[in-house]
Amino acid sequence: MGTCDYCGNRFPLTRSTRKYCTPRCKTNACLDRNPSRLSAGEVRALYQLLEATVASAEEMRERLRRIIAPDRAPMWDGRIPTLD
Ligand SMILES: [Zn+2]
Repeated sequence: MGTCDYCGNRFPLTRSTRKYCTPRCKTNACLDRNPSRLSAGEVRALYQLLEATVASAEEMRERLRRIIAPDRAPMWDGRIPTLD
């Protein structure tokens, strides 16, 4: 048995190299992959964040998420002032 890298389901391993239980999981895992490159605008926003004064680690994490993972659900629901 193997454990799917995407959904964690156990599945019969047909080849030792298999990492996902179904092609669908493989596709989803591929779509979920974190981008390895940032746009110039995102880099600029990160530098702004570096200089920003934040009230808490949660606020910092949430600002970071908005820059590099805008599609993910917010991890913090506090109000955040705009960067500029
Ligand atoms: Zn799976």
